[in-house]
Amino acid sequence: MEARHVAALLNFAATLDSRVRRIMATNEQAAATIRAWAQALADIPAVAEAAGWDASRAVRRYYEQRNGDRSAQFRAIEPADLLAAWAPHLAELMNRHSDPLPSADPDNPAAWRAELLGTRAAVATGNSAPSTHRQLSSAPHPALEARLATIGSPIPPEARQMLIPFRRMKAQREAAVAAGQADPLSVPCPVDWCRAEKGKPCRYRRMTPDGVATSNARRQKVHPSRVDAARAALEGVAA
Ligand SMILES: [Zn+2]
Repeated sequence: MEARHVAALLNFAATLDSRVRRIMATNEQAAATIRAWAQALADIPAVAEAAGWDASRAVRRYYEQRNGDRSAQFRAIEPADLLAAWAPHLAELMNRHSDPLPSADPDNPAAWRAELLGTRAAVATGNSAPSTHRQLSSAPHPALEARLATIGSPIPPEARQMLIPFRRMKAQREAAVAAGQADPLSVPCPVDWCRAEKGKPCRYRRMTPDGVATSNARRQKVHPSRVDAARAALEGVAA
């Protein structure tokens, strides 16, 4: 909340409570009160539709003395009452928020993290609605649209990430064929624990607890000996 929001809020409270009118009696008093409140309430929004929050409604609630709370009989509303009223809204917002996949380049961890935290902060201050979906729901993020324009890809970012190994592999295959070299995926991988089939990408080595080599994660590059095997196969055909 900014000073102008706080001023409006205090004006409203003053219509309900003569004690508030007294702490706003002179210009100096009013300015000091607004300053103090604005400082205390800097992190909470005046209105956050996504959270169903309206600070003036919270003021009215305080004086309605719902739920048996009689504080209003003994003292005028204070910033702490607004903080307390906002807390469940914030908790509810963050509960509903699941971090959406940032549109930043995943190869740039600083930008990725900054966007993730920025999105969270925007939700926490009521500036944006919580994202309950991890996939693209409606229109692409503006930053993403810009990137899409340069890349020219309609693939959602999540799918794009899953496709990275295949895309790198495809580029590698195309480059090899274009250079007149053997396509490494035209042969199965000869590496013992990889044994990727024809046309399938190579895999990373993984060790099970009992020391057996297994693998299931795709490598972005083929094993060098597979390149050799492909070259040998190509030369065998040519010979
Ligand atoms: Zn392999």
